[in-house]
Amino acid sequence: MKLKTKLYLGFGSILLIIVFLSINGFYTMHQQKDHMNAIVNENYERLKLIELLRNEINTTAREIRELLLMSEDAVLEDHISIIQKSRVASADLFLRIESIPRSVEESSHVVSQLKELNTIYYEVVNNAIQYAIEGDQDAGIKVLIDDHREMRAQIVEGFDKLTQLEESAMQQALSNAEADFQFTVLFLISLFIVAVIIVIGITISVVRSITKSIYKVRDVITSVPGHVNEQLPRIEVNSKDEIGEIAEAYNEMAHALEDYSKQEKDIKKYLENENWIKTKYSDIMKKFQGQQNLQRFGELFISKVASSVDATYGAFYTKEEDQINLIAGYASNQNERVGKETIKLGQGLVGQCALDNKVLHIEDLPEGYISTKSGLGEASPTSLVILPVEIEGEVLGVFELAKFERFSSLQMKLLKEVSDSSGVIIHRIINHMQIEKLLSDSQTLTEELQAQSEELQQQQEELRLTNEQLHVQYKNSDEKTKELEKIKRDLEEKNRGIELSSKYKSEFLANMSHELRTPLNSMLILSQILSENGEGNLTEKQIEYALTIHSSGSDLLDLINDILDLSKIESGKIDVYPEQVLLSDVKAFVERQFNPVARHKELDFKITIADDTPKVIFTDDQRLKQILKNLLSNAFKFTSRGSVNLRLSKGHDDIRSKIVFSVEDTGIGIPKHKQQEIFEAFFQGDGTTSRKYGGTGLGLSITRELSQLLGGYVTIESTEGKGSTFSLHLPDYYELSVIRKSMTAEVAATQENNVIVIDSPHTDDMKLEVSNDVDPTENNNEPFENKVVLVVDDDMRNVFAITTALEMQNMKVLFAENGIEALEIINSDSTIDIVLMDIMMPEMDGYEAMKKIRESDAFQDLPIIALTAKAMKSDKEKCIMAGASDYISKPVKMDQLLSLIKVWLYK
Ligand code: ADP
Repeated sequence: MKLKTKLYLGFGSILLIIVFLSINGFYTMHQQKDHMNAIVNENYERLKLIELLRNEINTTAREIRELLLMSEDAVLEDHISIIQKSRVASADLFLRIESIPRSVEESSHVVSQLKELNTIYYEVVNNAIQYAIEGDQDAGIKVLIDDHREMRAQIVEGFDKLTQLEESAMQQALSNAEADFQFTVLFLISLFIVAVIIVIGITISVVRSITKSIYKVRDVITSVPGHVNEQLPRIEVNSKDEIGEIAEAYNEMAHALEDYSKQEKDIKKYLENENWIKTKYSDIMKKFQGQQNLQRFGELFISKVASSVDATYGAFYTKEEDQINLIAGYASNQNERVGKETIKLGQGLVGQCALDNKVLHIEDLPEGYISTKSGLGEASPTSLVILPVEIEGEVLGVFELAKFERFSSLQMKLLKEVSDSSGVIIHRIINHMQIEKLLSDSQTLTEELQAQSEELQQQQEELRLTNEQLHVQYKNSDEKTKELEKIKRDLEEKNRGIELSSKYKSEFLANMSHELRTPLNSMLILSQILSENGEGNLTEKQIEYALTIHSSGSDLLDLINDILDLSKIESGKIDVYPEQVLLSDVKAFVERQFNPVARHKELDFKITIADDTPKVIFTDDQRLKQILKNLLSNAFKFTSRGSVNLRLSKGHDDIRSKIVFSVEDTGIGIPKHKQQEIFEAFFQGDGTTSRKYGGTGLGLSITRELSQLLGGYVTIESTEGKGSTFSLHLPDYYELSVIRKSMTAEVAATQENNVIVIDSPHTDDMKLEVSNDVDPTENNNEPFENKVVLVVDDDMRNVFAITTALEMQNMKVLFAENGIEALEIINSDSTIDIVLMDIMMPEMDGYEAMKKIRESDAFQDLPIIALTAKAMKSDKEKCIMAGASDYISKPVKMDQLLSLIKVWLYK
């Protein structure tokens, strides 16, 4: 229960008791007061009235006496009226006395007696008065005193008795009130005592319950100073009141205090550790300042580091390429150095540490893993740590330490710091050593260079001589070139003749074949009819003759067809009819054609199509099938055992190889030296007269020609005795045509610019589109023929190389050694078509020479190609600013140069 509630309850109950006591006292007093009132009002009133009554009677008695004793008539009347008044008053008083309630029965009785006596008395008095009025006083006296003596005595007696009764009644009431008062006082006192006891009880219990927990809290809190370094005492909380809350708050405070003091301790410990590390660290690092020698550094380093962490063993290695070399050891002796001399990267723990650039820390080393010796004995350390020394992630070295106890975390931290910062020192030392080495190397080199430069001077002299000789040779070669040109023209004339005759030959063959087919046709049909022996009049032998005639005729027809095909192709009479060809159709066709052959020859025949092969190709269906037929026929013909396979796959990146059809066999194969020849017309591998396989020797020639016609080509791989693979590479004819068209357009443009292009009979690529026409791109020599080029360069070797290459292109080459010479030549010779200008030259460099050339109006359009060794972007801009038409960087690639020259010659 809460204290507040307890207090409220305690004080509340006290208040209640007080209220109860007060009400009770008030009530009792009230009763007392009523009581007293009754006594005063009733008893006292009655007594007073009785007294008054007595007085009235006394007055009457006195008056009557006087009346009887006196005889004057005048006063008689007065006495009578007084007596009458008293009579009325006494009757009234009796009524009043009777009206007051009374407790004593006897008293009422006495009153009613008195009342009767009073009535009688007044009648007597009236009689006496009557006598007096009549003047007979004596008779009156006699009636009043003598006759009624006794009655009067009774009245007096009555009054006395009544007074006595009433007085004793009053006395009684008073003593009753007294007794009531006594009782009330007693009752109130005892009630008060009970209340006081209850209040004390409540107070004690409330105070007790509060002070008990307060004392508990006080005891715990006062005991705190005795627990400075240990856990603070806690107050057991088992009440839910305010003290309980105080106890809880105290407990929380104690907890917070403990936490705080723990943190304080930790920080202190941490600072101590840091301090230790910093001291040791600076102690170690101080030693290495200014150190220039790696060996010396290693020795110092390992001994200092090992002693700082109480290690009994230590080794320091540096890394050189993929090898780690021992530099210094700790606790080693002369004969026996600690650690291995060289370790490969990744080998053992040290090698691994260097490779991974990671700290290795091993506890509980097995007995004898390392041993540390002293003069007295030898023992094995149990803890080992290997740390890399690195700079920017590159490991420069490794050091290794071992000791009998474990390495504390503090020591490990120190080692880590040392390893982290020694990389810089080692790097510096290595750099220093390298610089020293380079310095000495450069000194040697300088000496060598001096010797070489002298040699060079000598060579330069020689070169100058050669140069002069070259001048002479140029002039000679110029003449020779002219002669050669003449010869070439003659040859070309002859070549054209040969071509013409070859064309005639092809036409002749075509015509001949055609002429031969007609008679052959009838021969074949007739021999077929004969062999069927419709009339049944031929002998077996005769039928066989007919069959032989038919088969020979068929062979002849095949031969003629082949010749015709070949000549047609050669004379360009075959057109290509490209269309969408489904490879599945091709497969079905081949299966239809060759499955029976395979069965007949008992060979395995499989057609496979690789997953990534296109499903459709745009080409001439008929020609494709013809080629495959040729290749497969050969494969079956030259294979007697094993298998023949046709494999379809995706081609190479080459535009001419979109799809590859490979015919593989396990036949006789073709020797290497014949692999080219077999494509020649009429060539047969087995050239002897006793031919085993038969055939015309035209199949492969036709195959090659047709494949070229379709834009593709045939390759062969073969091993004698093992088998051959003929691969037909075909392009998508549509894609090829698009490319060719764009190329033809370019060529046509070139032709319009009057470029002379020589016809070349066998350049496959272009043959289709331009068919019989001359192919303008085929000859690269012509564009340069007789063009005059001026080469400006001071380097003789360069000049020689470029000159030779350009002369091979039939160009006329002039030469200048520097800008000044170049200007002279250009001004004197107006035939120059193009200038190749070197930039770095003595006397006048390329930039200046070009500026000078462009100053003259005549040479505004002369193409100048600048050659420079550097390939900076700004060089090009500089060249163009100086007047160069274009730019090429050295070393010059001849084909690049040639195409550049070509571009500028015809721009
Ligand atoms: P033919 O087969 O009519 O003799 P070809 O031009 O088709 O003429 O072949 C020329 C020669 O190439 C053949 O005589 C043969 O020696 C060789 N040859 C062609 N295909 C194969 C092959 N699959 N295996 C071995 N040799 C072959």
